[in-house]
Amino acid sequence: MPVFFQSRAGRQCMSIVGLGITLWLLGTLLRFDDSLASFMTDFGAYGADKLVLGLGIAGAMSFIYSVLRIADLRKEMELRVAAQAKADWTATHDHLTKLPNRYAFERKALARPIKNDEAEIEEWDDNVTIFSVDLDGFKKVNDLVGHKGGDELLIEVARRICALGNADCVYRFGGDEFIIVAFALTAQREERFAKLLIQAVTRPIHIDGFAVEVGASVGYDRWAEGAEPLEDAAHRADLAMYEAKSRGPNHFLVFETSMQDKVTERASLETRLRAAIANKDIKPFYQPLIDLKTGQLCGFEALARWTGEDGIHISPPVFIDIAEETGMITALFEDLLAQACSDALTWPAHVMLSFNVSPVQMEDKLLTSRILKVLSATRLPPQRLEVEITENALIQDPAVAAVILEELHAAGIQIALDDFGTGYSSLAQLARYRFDKIKIDKSFIATYRDDERQEKIVRAMLGLGRSLNIKTTAEGVEEHGQLAFLLQLGCDIGQGYLFGKAMPAAEAGIFISDRNASLASTA
Ligand code: C2E
Ligand code: CA
Ligand code: CA
Repeated sequence: MPVFFQSRAGRQCMSIVGLGITLWLLGTLLRFDDSLASFMTDFGAYGADKLVLGLGIAGAMSFIYSVLRIADLRKEMELRVAAQAKADWTATHDHLTKLPNRYAFERKALARPIKNDEAEIEEWDDNVTIFSVDLDGFKKVNDLVGHKGGDELLIEVARRICALGNADCVYRFGGDEFIIVAFALTAQREERFAKLLIQAVTRPIHIDGFAVEVGASVGYDRWAEGAEPLEDAAHRADLAMYEAKSRGPNHFLVFETSMQDKVTERASLETRLRAAIANKDIKPFYQPLIDLKTGQLCGFEALARWTGEDGIHISPPVFIDIAEETGMITALFEDLLAQACSDALTWPAHVMLSFNVSPVQMEDKLLTSRILKVLSATRLPPQRLEVEITENALIQDPAVAAVILEELHAAGIQIALDDFGTGYSSLAQLARYRFDKIKIDKSFIATYRDDERQEKIVRAMLGLGRSLNIKTTAEGVEEHGQLAFLLQLGCDIGQGYLFGKAMPAAEAGIFISDRNASLASTA
């Protein structure tokens, strides 16, 4: 039925026409036409015939007017329907790739459990697998070819994914995440499809003369049709994808219940961490840094320690990671730094305080002012503070990182490049920024004896420090043999279990006096 007749105006028009026909039939039946004729004859002298003619013409004019308005109304209705369809498309599709979006998926998901449409039952009859695909290294592409280039890449990726299967069942869930709904796949074919997805995405894409490559992490799971909304399966596919991503680029995984457990555990840890930060339950411990030439203590590295209410120790990389992701790192950092600065004031003036700054903090333009505020509140001279940053911290936002390093230097704070050798652009970083110290990662110290190449790298790193006039610290010194090797190669500072593990503030005080006493006795 034409749209017009479904509208209110259309229905009214039809009612009026119906009423007119009924009245006409009634008039004919009651011989109203005869009465009208005799009325005109009787009152012709008074212009009754002219009045009826006038009424007839007015009726005809009204009819023409109505037809014109109806035509207008129809056009308007069509425009409105088209606008509605456009708005609907806009709300349910991604403008860039033209793929349906998360909202479209949710709408389809909502419609799913109720099986009242024969065609749909047919369409979804076999098992349904949801694949979640997230690009690896997409941010770097944006940095390399700009946002326009990034857009082009997303369009091409969408095209390639669609080419693998039914285009109606590929969704873009914002950013660089895609969801694919696949039908009737066996476990083997699901695995093959996941591999195909990775292959399709990772083939180089040519943008502005660059052959750009991105990776893809894929997670998937079956939909328990009838027992759960489709979104639940998409959520599990997401969890599997995140797990795959954590194993490095271009991995795929099918969902396992342990992944859900991990997420629940993490959520609970996040709640506990929030409370621990508020209650100041996380404390800085101090690991000694020893001047290898004199044997004297030259500093302490502050390392965060958290023992849960159950007495179980939670490892720093675990809770620092959560603090970084949830934005709690700033509060934690300021609190720990304030405690550490107060403790450092009780140490001899030549003993430095080394403090770790995590990569996300290097994107915080207010970092320097936050540090200076803590220093002035605790009255620790900036010259006694050294911040340790890793190479990763410099690649997130190099421009902001460069400004922060300049500001820190200008304030008199020292900067150490932490975990040196484990990043992927060490030499470039050394040339670009000014560091006061490089800390050779403990993995090199642990393995140099078993692997000749590692030994050569340690030698080269120490040589590099010497020629650039930057002090070197060796991390993870656990044995006398390692100490002798480092001494022989001219390493400046040693840190590791051989000298002492990270200890609470009170023990650090005792360590200082013991060290002084033992040095005095050997002198
Ligand atoms: P890192 O900065 O490289 O810290 C050195 C890590 O090596 C510490 O682990 C320390 O306990 C350990 N270590 C020291 N000597 C030895 C040794 O001889 N052998 C071995 N096997 N390990 C040794 P920890 O305390 O578990 O910290 C791990 C990482 O967590 C740190 O690595 C640092 O990246 C991060 N972290 C710790 N505290 C903080 C903090 O307050 N803020 C930030 N942003 N990160 C922190
Ligand atoms: Ca460190
Ligand atoms: Ca380190």
